[in-house]
Amino acid sequence: MAGRLEQIQKYRDVDNLTLKQIGQKLRPAVTAERVRQILEQRNAKQCTVHKTFFEKQCYKCKKLEEYDSLIEKLKRDGIWDTIQKVKKHDRSALMVSQRYLVVRKLKVRYKLSFRLIGRILERDHASIMHLFYQ
Ligand SMILES: [Zn+2]
Repeated sequence: MAGRLEQIQKYRDVDNLTLKQIGQKLRPAVTAERVRQILEQRNAKQCTVHKTFFEKQCYKCKKLEEYDSLIEKLKRDGIWDTIQKVKKHDRSALMVSQRYLVVRKLKVRYKLSFRLIGRILERDHASIMHLFYQ
């Protein structure tokens, strides 16, 4: 579970909320001034790469680490080479059906989101969904 500071940072960077809106979203709700204080608290650390504030770990670094360990897992499982093959923009029937099988495996066995599968296969999540539900 991410700390409150990480949550505030996400509301700011990802959802582009104002300090007031962030305060209203927190449970219990706090004032905009309190949100500003939390952001400036002494025990907050700042990521040197992403400039985000955090208590335990920068959420952007954490996401990158999770992605890296997923790639490592796919390599260990021996599916990475197939992924590289079906990543190519080749619309032949054979390639399309192989790509479908990879998407299916990543979705069903690995329980990855369409967005993440899209990132792995270098396609947008709509194309992946289309392929999955075809
Ligand atoms: Zn970072």
